[in-house]
Amino acid sequence: MPHAVSLLRAARLARSAKPFLARGGFKRERCAGCRLLPSHCMCALRPLVTTRAGVCLLMADIEPLKPSNTGWLIADVVPDTFAFGWARTETDPALLALLADPQWQPYVVFPGQYAAPERVVHTLPPPLESLDGATAKRPLFILLDGTWGEARKMFSRSPYLDALPVLSLEPEQISQYKLRRSGRDDHFCTSEVAALCMSLAGEHVAEQTLEAYLAVFTHHYLRAKNQQPIVWDGDAHQRLREVQCQEQAGATVPAVP
Ligand SMILES: [Zn+2]
Repeated sequence: MPHAVSLLRAARLARSAKPFLARGGFKRERCAGCRLLPSHCMCALRPLVTTRAGVCLLMADIEPLKPSNTGWLIADVVPDTFAFGWARTETDPALLALLADPQWQPYVVFPGQYAAPERVVHTLPPPLESLDGATAKRPLFILLDGTWGEARKMFSRSPYLDALPVLSLEPEQISQYKLRRSGRDDHFCTSEVAALCMSLAGEHVAEQTLEAYLAVFTHHYLRAKNQQPIVWDGDAHQRLREVQCQEQAGATVPAVP
């Protein structure tokens, strides 16, 4: 069953008048399950995690078509991933219904300096917050998936987001996270933001799986681009296997130092 981002991509493709060609991209056949060349397919590696948290991707117009989009990876990993194309003039009723669903507590993930201070939160309540032990709402992380300019536009021109709390990731959280990821630039991709959110929600297996899966995807993507074979027993694949074993055992793997 195709996931939310896959369906959004198919719908977006159906609407385009001319075929989309990724910038500098190759025109060869791609796997429908992972968007990679069949020789570099990673569908067999798709991990499975259970998590209370959900992710709602609001995607800029062209974003679902980009082969490098990492919202796709979130949808692979997090069972409750929802994806909607963003447009200033129209809003999918299904998105409004999702935001109004009482099982979820939506958070717009965005830098706090762009929101009124009373909306901004930096942490999430523990899963059991009420005294009678009733389960708290499940966190739903709304990620604005696009360029920085597109994300700002989505944030300021979506009235249905205005009443929601804004989860602002703290610089310390970001730099702590970066310490574990050597050799990367300052830019955070969407699946890294999702991993950080999962960490705040106490969903460490989901966090670690997203990290490991992104590394595997990056490997497959770059090897395909450079026409090199996959190294199946390299660090990235090994880490993903470890995390998955622990998921099955119901424990958490220590983070890579
Ligand atoms: Zn594939």
